[in-house]
Amino acid sequence: MNVSRYQGKTSQVPKSYCTRCLRMHNKVTAVGEPGAAPAKHCVTLCVHCGHLMTFDELLQLRDLTPEEMLAVKRNKQWPEIQALQEKLRNAVAVFLRPVDEEQK
Ligand SMILES: [Zn+2]
Repeated sequence: MNVSRYQGKTSQVPKSYCTRCLRMHNKVTAVGEPGAAPAKHCVTLCVHCGHLMTFDELLQLRDLTPEEMLAVKRNKQWPEIQALQEKLRNAVAVFLRPVDEEQK
């Protein structure tokens, strides 16, 4: 995976919370289109847990409806989204590993 592809423009968004891990987000980084700004219906991933969400009209995070989820899974970018989710989940797993576990 080309990590530099994920280093697009970072934009401020209104404070909102991941619907899975409840961590706060107030910035998002564009994927694929380096200069893109977030908008309603953009798909987004929580950097803490990899949860897939979207923005509402006020740029608040919300879960995808079943129909929206199906559309995302049919999108040609779905394999790339899954790969990025896995990368984020793995990063969180390493970050959360207790210190005494690493010393064994
Ligand atoms: Zn999360």
